[in-house]
Amino acid sequence: MPSTDPFVPFALPDIGPQEEAEVLDTLRSGWLTTGPKVARFEKAFAGFLGASGLHVLAVNSATAGLHLALDALGIGPGDEVITTTHTFTATAEVIRYMGAQPVLVDIEPHTLCIDPAQVAARITPRTRALIVVHFGGRSADMTALLALARAHGLRVVEDAAHALPATHAGQLVGTLGSDATVFSFYANKTMTTGEGGMLVLRDETHARRARAMRLHGIDRDAFARFNTAVPAWRYDVVAPGFKYNLTDIAAAIGLAQLPRLRAMQQRRAEIAAAYREALADLPLALPPLPAPGDVHAWHLFAVQVHGMARDAFIDAMFAQGIGMSVHYVPLHQMSYWRQSCGLDAGDFPVSQAVYEHTASLPIYSRMDDATVQRVAAAVRRVLPGA
Ligand SMILES: *Cc1c(COP(=O)(O)O)cnc(C)c1O
Repeated sequence: MPSTDPFVPFALPDIGPQEEAEVLDTLRSGWLTTGPKVARFEKAFAGFLGASGLHVLAVNSATAGLHLALDALGIGPGDEVITTTHTFTATAEVIRYMGAQPVLVDIEPHTLCIDPAQVAARITPRTRALIVVHFGGRSADMTALLALARAHGLRVVEDAAHALPATHAGQLVGTLGSDATVFSFYANKTMTTGEGGMLVLRDETHARRARAMRLHGIDRDAFARFNTAVPAWRYDVVAPGFKYNLTDIAAAIGLAQLPRLRAMQQRRAEIAAAYREALADLPLALPPLPAPGDVHAWHLFAVQVHGMARDAFIDAMFAQGIGMSVHYVPLHQMSYWRQSCGLDAGDFPVSQAVYEHTASLPIYSRMDDATVQRVAAAVRRVLPGA
């Protein structure tokens, strides 16, 4: 029987009166694009990360941030960059932007993140960098990955689109010692600016390059270094850059979201705990927990269905009025990646097995307890023999 209750969306942004007021303030200020609010947002974000010596650059998407990161690291034709097949296409497409070769590897079953052993097995003299994804908001094994990268002289970029806030060994993702960390503020992420992202860099030279490439390759510092009275019209162009700057309208949303981020994460963690309890006895594999003491951002709550076919499970959940998704159809299943990298599902047994069974339940900070229980009850109704 189809449900008559209101449809439960898969994701919903958590926008309240603070966001509305901050955006209205920007609209009335006369300054809509990159300006004072972006500067404040970057400063506030650096404050949230709390580590000194980091360069924090607001960008108009995480994809832009990943592109700028690889550009700043000097990745180019002839280079190989290792990343995971179990991700969104943006993680790997930026490697192609640079004319470099993506090398896709499998994940670990207990984290669903890139497997350090698989990375080690694919390192060649051409390997320049590694892009790590903290799947679902659970941090990857950064201790092993950073050690491996150090041993082989590889750059490390973290695609932290899911991992705000998340910790590894007690330290916030963004401060773990990689060369670059990129967060996403897309509408369904743990914090949003509609579209947007944040690029965190450690090295001053990388930051200077990314700052210029973010806006048409324009470098104002070249003049400012020698002359403090540089007129606003005076700038140099040092490269054919991109149009990746964040607007003040978007930064206004971010300024209102950031002080609420901890509370929003706590709500997601409560929902994840409630799901775990309510679903514990069902024929499902629940998402991996973080290492003891670590924070999971709970961007996703992806279960693996073993009682019935995954597609039928998702159809039945929709019939119960519950929005669902799949994270991910791995890259080795996508025609472009399969053909251009010559991939075969047999090369990714863990990712492939997870993919065949995986279904993501709704999780967002505005979900109330009754809705969480409604989703759990729908899962129980849908699974046979449960
Ligand atoms: C959402 C997402 C991105 C892209 O983020 P945008 O801000 O939309 O560019 C990249 N990688 C992963 C893993 C994502 O989930």
